[in-house]
Amino acid sequence: MIKAVLWLGMLTTCFAANAGVVIENVTIVDVINGQLNPAQNVLISADKMVAIQSNTVPGKHQRIDGSSQYLLPGLWDMHTHLANKPATRRLRLFIANGVTGVREMFSDCNPCNPYQLNLEQMNGLRRDINTHKRLGPRLLALSAPIVDLQGKTAINNFVKQAKKRGADFIKTYTNLPRQSYLYLVEAAKAQGLPVAGHVPNEVPIGEALSLGHQSVEHARTLPLYCVDSPTKAIKRSWHNSVNALTQYNEKHCQVLLKQMADSNTYYVPTHLTRKMDAFAHDPNFRNDPRLQYIDKLTNVGWQRDADNYARDLAGRKHYSAFYQHGLKITGMASRAGVNIMLGTDANDSYVIPGFSVHDELQQ
Ligand SMILES: [Zn+2]
Repeated sequence: MIKAVLWLGMLTTCFAANAGVVIENVTIVDVINGQLNPAQNVLISADKMVAIQSNTVPGKHQRIDGSSQYLLPGLWDMHTHLANKPATRRLRLFIANGVTGVREMFSDCNPCNPYQLNLEQMNGLRRDINTHKRLGPRLLALSAPIVDLQGKTAINNFVKQAKKRGADFIKTYTNLPRQSYLYLVEAAKAQGLPVAGHVPNEVPIGEALSLGHQSVEHARTLPLYCVDSPTKAIKRSWHNSVNALTQYNEKHCQVLLKQMADSNTYYVPTHLTRKMDAFAHDPNFRNDPRLQYIDKLTNVGWQRDADNYARDLAGRKHYSAFYQHGLKITGMASRAGVNIMLGTDANDSYVIPGFSVHDELQQ
């Protein structure tokens, strides 16, 4: 009863104000309850969804026929690279593909070249998007990347500054020494900033998980731990990606995945970047018509990158096998109850912003 009154109240307010948009006869993808709700009518007014109902919405509104179509909440890309000028020119591609939120994985530079954006500029971008001055996805989180820093004081200062400058989390890279990582975790906790990203080579993955490492990135990394001697096969190198296949140990892998599930860590496989390695020689992959949305200079860079992989005849079989192996491990991770988060490495070679979210979902 109360629900009906609220419903009516909302509609009355809406009619009194300005006319809205009605999407009619659409199937709603209800991601909370995991079901499809067919033949729904959705009224949008002043940028807000104000009513969802099976009855026709009366009144003077713009009407969109949604029959045989689906309506779903905005998608998120939880691993993007936007902190440079060519990349920010592609923000509309996210919106065009229904991607309304992104987690930005390298939102700073020091020193910066003329094309790069630093944290302050990225925050400006976020403000412009939030206030509708610029069309783009919500920047859900900006990162302060820590590549290679040593000493407790230096790390404390880095984290304090990052917080002050508007970072939402600290992104780690593989070269960070173990002691620095431990200092970082402590300093980040004190500032209330999560730590996510590549698990440093010197840190056993189990230790990172137990310290609350929030997300582990890339299907080129996780398989390196699914081997006979996981502590040794940690470096991101060609040699170790071969080891990941030849020394694959399913039992060790299951133990690790259980640990990830138990520690509530997220896994962001970004399979598309491995797909690029595996398909770089394939004309169908290379002649993607969606590349028309990418500027010429970037296109040239991407092609050069793909050429390097395509030329490597000896490596081709390996790239393909490693890519497939990554997919298999993500399947295992999902069955083991690991939180899988969708991220694409958007703006990496052949990872076209927005479109890539749909591609990665297929992966
Ligand atoms: Zn990345």
